[in-house]
Amino acid sequence: ILPSKTIEEVSEDVEKWASQKREELENLRKNEAFRKEFLLNLSHELKTPIFAVQGYIHTLLDGAIDDPGVNRMFLKNATKNIDRLCRLLDDLDEISKLEIGEMSVAPDDFIIQDLIKDVFDTLSLKANQKNIKFQIKKGCEAPIRVWADKEKIRQVLINLIDNSIKYGKQDGSTIASIYNLDDKTVLIEISDDGHGMAEEHLPRVFERFYRTDKARSRDIGGTGLGLAIVKHIVEAHGQNITVRSKLEIGSTFGFTLQTAKD
Ligand code: ADP
Repeated sequence: ILPSKTIEEVSEDVEKWASQKREELENLRKNEAFRKEFLLNLSHELKTPIFAVQGYIHTLLDGAIDDPGVNRMFLKNATKNIDRLCRLLDDLDEISKLEIGEMSVAPDDFIIQDLIKDVFDTLSLKANQKNIKFQIKKGCEAPIRVWADKEKIRQVLINLIDNSIKYGKQDGSTIASIYNLDDKTVLIEISDDGHGMAEEHLPRVFERFYRTDKARSRDIGGTGLGLAIVKHIVEAHGQNITVRSKLEIGSTFGFTLQTAKD
């Protein structure tokens, strides 16, 4: 009986099989490390506000409640931490849904400039507190129709524009630019002239819980999940997100979308 494969072919198959198994094992290890790191980060993120609330309540019960100089401030600080905890849980909910693929993209035909203006309106109060001006770049006003999930892209714009305020400077500006890259793709950029980031952070800013300055992010109420959510949503549309930034000069986040066809 003639063997169906030569020794060389069989050994090639074995090599292939072994290398596939090695790769699978490596992926499992990576996932496991990723999961452990996520859990560690998460428990830390949860502990910080919970311990703060615990501290304020205990101090109030220990007598501070009768001190009119501090009791209101302690309650306010406790509330601020509870609010942050709620935001964290909302963001976690969102990211888990995105990661298990439960959230589907329901595309629609809409004008991207209208959505940007809507988000500018939503965030105008917050921007006014730092006297930050919102603007659509000159020359980018001509309406462009895109084909995307409007509510999810609203979330993307809210997260990016909210960051441009949070990490923006007093009296600064946030500029939205919209460019037709080709007849199928639009590029949307959100730029600020704020604190910016050093080069070394850029490859990691879309990771869950990654921050260039943990203390500043927490202080201004960040959850560290905003950009991870943005990346998920953009990639669920089959599109890309990029960032460029210079410390103390400003940052530009750009993402692509598909144009709507008649
Ligand atoms: P956070 O809730 O901390 O804002 P994000 O995921 O939205 O979380 O952002 C991650 C980190 O990226 C921030 O903590 C901040 O260090 C940095 N970052 C995001 N947007 C900007 C920006 N426009 N300018 C400077 N740094 C930014």
